[in-house]
Amino acid sequence: MSITLYNTATRRKEPFTPLDPNNVRMYVCGPTVYDRAHLGNARPVLIFDVLYRLLRHEYGADAVTYVRNFTDVDDRINETAQKRKQAGATGSLEDLIRERSDETIGWYHADMDALGALRPTHEPRATEYIDQMIAMSQQLINDGFAYAKDGHVLFRVRKYDDYGKLSGRSVDDMIAGARVEVAPYKEDPMDFVLWKPSDDDLPGWDSPWGRGRPGWHIECSAMADELLWKLPREKGLLSQEALAHPHTFDIHGGGNDLTFPHHENEIAQSKCVHQGSEYAQVWMHNEMLQVEGKKMSKSLGNFFTVRDLLDQGVPGEVIRFVMLSTHYRKPMDWTETKANIAELKLLEWHSEIKTHARLEDVNANCVSNEIVEALSNDLDTHNALKHLDDQVKTAGNASEKYQQLANDMQFLGLLSREMFSATGFFWVDADSLLSTDEQQLIAELIDARSTAKALKDFQRADEIREILLSAGVTLTDSRGGTTYKVEGVFDPSKLEALE
Ligand code: AMP
Ligand code: ZN
Repeated sequence: MSITLYNTATRRKEPFTPLDPNNVRMYVCGPTVYDRAHLGNARPVLIFDVLYRLLRHEYGADAVTYVRNFTDVDDRINETAQKRKQAGATGSLEDLIRERSDETIGWYHADMDALGALRPTHEPRATEYIDQMIAMSQQLINDGFAYAKDGHVLFRVRKYDDYGKLSGRSVDDMIAGARVEVAPYKEDPMDFVLWKPSDDDLPGWDSPWGRGRPGWHIECSAMADELLWKLPREKGLLSQEALAHPHTFDIHGGGNDLTFPHHENEIAQSKCVHQGSEYAQVWMHNEMLQVEGKKMSKSLGNFFTVRDLLDQGVPGEVIRFVMLSTHYRKPMDWTETKANIAELKLLEWHSEIKTHARLEDVNANCVSNEIVEALSNDLDTHNALKHLDDQVKTAGNASEKYQQLANDMQFLGLLSREMFSATGFFWVDADSLLSTDEQQLIAELIDARSTAKALKDFQRADEIREILLSAGVTLTDSRGGTTYKVEGVFDPSKLEALE
């Protein structure tokens, strides 16, 4: 089946042809890790997760490389670290900054895992690619596309003729419309920062222009090139066709709030530093999640976090369902009514699957053609969900239809342990991050605990629960049985304490 995707760069839907079908390469701009992700931040994660699943289905699970970065150079991270230092926290400012980023990345993983998003192949942190950013900036200076002034390095926007092409604006329109900063170190107000100086209270790295830190745009250009071009090329993974398009990969994604200036700047600096490169062939942008017609954002204060919803008891699959029910190129609102309808639907589907299908046989690879077809049409998730709904309505007692429903839901990341337990079922999800051996070990311990409880040996039952907890496994008992969750990292060595 051929996949068609809307390309922001050409403003039309196009058949998707990767440069190398054995090595499909995608980059998506990830979060700035200064605080919990709000619900809007989850939209690109879920949209590009569906695309990732579709590409893996079409080209093979090992044939797709998905990179999503963590921006861990940011004034808001620094602020938190400085506050902690003033409040007496021990460690250097760098340590405290790292601590804040680690903490935020941990939350991000927990929240996005709960939404059923697969982890990307690589999740680079900007601070681990500073050398590459310095090298790119230096090259741009050498070639006349950038200049250094007062500890800053700036990109000469007027040197790149196609600037504004992605977002369809002229440089003059952009100056009129955007809040471009006029500064004494700039030749032209449109020029943007590749490098800026850091004073002693800020994190910094040594560079030819003094101690400083990178600008945001150069981070993505450097990480994308490193992980989607240099690394696979060095490993000898790229086909002749891919090698004939140097420094170029297939898909670049992000929210449409990033089209200008972030993506425009990424293109300008990447194409100028690597002459002949196309950077990304397809540009995909999701529309915004809104609150009463306005973009949900931290700065407007009109936000709630993914964690807020999960803590209120909204299952991750419900959030996922609501998000996928609107096409990614349309703005959408989160409403309680939508969440309630999604929850009822998912509970009904789980209960039907429980009655009619065999969970042991669920296989996401056997997803139905209709689902693949809908998603291949520029990720029509709305129609994919509608297809599932129609299937349930006409399934009657036909068990194979429910088996198919289960396969399709597994493919879309909508099968849920919690929902099976809510309908009185115990099931360890096949997509779990644990190996089969680890799953079996946990299942045996849960059985041993049930036996201990049945024998009224509560001390033993509690001991098993405590030890599992120390290994990162939390148990939940309900009418239907016991389910478990792994929070953070599973540490099987802790289980050795059990005799
Ligand atoms: P940030 O951490 O603000 O750079 O955002 C991380 C990702 O979330 C980017 O791809 C943004 O485009 C996206 N994003 C931010 N706000 C929203 C929103 N309200 N709706 C959809 N996507 C958003
Ligand atoms: Zn980016």
